[in-house]
Amino acid sequence: MLVVMSHLATQEEIDNVISVVEKRGYMARHIPGGDRVSIGILHNKGSVDASHFRGLAGVKEVIPVTRPYKLVSREFQPENTIIKVGDAEIGGNGMAIMAGPCAIESEKQALTIAGHVRKAGAHIFRGGAFKPRTSPYSFQGLGKKGLEILAKVREETGMPVVTEVMDYEKFDLVEEYADIIQIGTRNMQNFSLLRRAGKAKKPIMLKRGMAATIDEWLMAAEYILEEGNPRVILCERGVRTFVNHSRNTLDISAIPVVRKESHLPIIVDPSHAAGIRDQVIPLSLAAVAVNAHGLMVEVHHMPDEALSDGAQSLYPEQFEALCQKVASIHKLFHQGADT
Ligand code: PEP
Ligand code: MN
Repeated sequence: MLVVMSHLATQEEIDNVISVVEKRGYMARHIPGGDRVSIGILHNKGSVDASHFRGLAGVKEVIPVTRPYKLVSREFQPENTIIKVGDAEIGGNGMAIMAGPCAIESEKQALTIAGHVRKAGAHIFRGGAFKPRTSPYSFQGLGKKGLEILAKVREETGMPVVTEVMDYEKFDLVEEYADIIQIGTRNMQNFSLLRRAGKAKKPIMLKRGMAATIDEWLMAAEYILEEGNPRVILCERGVRTFVNHSRNTLDISAIPVVRKESHLPIIVDPSHAAGIRDQVIPLSLAAVAVNAHGLMVEVHHMPDEALSDGAQSLYPEQFEALCQKVASIHKLFHQGADT
C-alpha cells in the first residue's frame, strides 16, 4: 500500500503517518517524489486496511499495491529511475551503450578494445575479471589483476566500468573497483548476494536468470532495493528455450513488459542471447526499436583468440557500424520521447 501525501503536507504530518504505520507493526518506507512524498507500507502479512491512513492529516490518497514487488513497481514510483555513472546516464531518454570483451585477458587487450569501443561511441566499458564458466577447465578470469586493468582503462579512457561479482566473499573487492556491479544470470536468485548488493554504494546491473519469469526477476531486484540500494539496472540477456539456432532466445517482449511494470532502467545484452556474432546486430536493433534504455555488447579485436565468448564478439568495425545504426533507429522512433 502506498500513502501519498499532499504536496502541502508538513514534515510533522509525514512523520506522524510513518509512526502510525510503524505502530501497526508494518515497515514504513519514505519515498521522495518530484513534487510530493509518499510512504510505502512494507512487511504486511495480509492486506492493509486503508481506512487507518486515509483520514490522517496531510494524506492525499491511499493506493493499494497490487503487485508482489513493491519498491521496484511503477505503483510505488511512477517516474523512471535514472542512474548516472560518470558522464553516462541509464534510464533517461538516450541509449546507454556498454561494450568490451567478455573477459579481461591482459592490459594490452583491454586498452586496445577500450580504444575501439570508445571511438565508436560506447559510454561504459565492460569486461569480466571473475568469470562464471560452465567448465572448471575454462579460463576463469584474471581476478584482482583484471580489476586493476579495468581501473587502468577507466583512468586512460574516462569510461566507467561494469564488471561481474560472482560471490559474496569477493563483493568488497569488486565494489572497490567497479562503477557498476554486475550480477550474472546464474546468480539472479542468490539471495545473500542480492542482499549484499542492496548495501552497496554502487549501482547494480541485475541480469535476468536464464529460466526466470519477469516476476521472479523483479522480485530479485526488490531484494536489492529493500536493503537500501535504489540504483538497479535490469538486463535482459535471453532465456533458455528448445531452439538450437542460438545460445538463448532474446525475450524482446520483456522490454515493454518491464517498462510498464517497473521504473527501473532495462537494457539488453544481445551477445549472450545470441551466442553467435551474426545475430548480435539484428537483435541490438530490435532492442532499440522496443525502447530498451541501453545495450551491452561483447567486442574483441581478435575474437578467434579470445579466451571466452569469441564466437559472439563483434569485430570493432562491426561495433562501429552497429553504433551508427543504433543512433538512426533511436532517432527515428524515440527522439523527443519522454517515456
Ligand atoms: C557476462 O556478461 O559476462 C555473462 C557471463 O553474462 P550472463 O551472466 O548473462 O551469462
Ligand atoms: Mn561473455
